[in-house]
Amino acid sequence: MMNARKTEIRLEECKVCKGQIASTAEVCPHCGARLKPPPTVVFLVFVIVMLVFIIFVSQL
Ligand SMILES: [Zn+2]
Repeated sequence: MMNARKTEIRLEECKVCKGQIASTAEVCPHCGARLKPPPTVVFLVFVIVMLVFIIFVSQL
């Protein structure tokens, strides 16, 4: 079951240097390793951006 959406930033472990990094980070701040977000996250962000854009345009 999916919980209600949370806006808090979760911490994840870097696979390269084992450092703590935000789940929203694209690049590790410790070692600079690229962290590719899962395709579902990319799709979700794209949908949210599109929704915000449509709402913004409709209010003009
Ligand atoms: Zn790292």
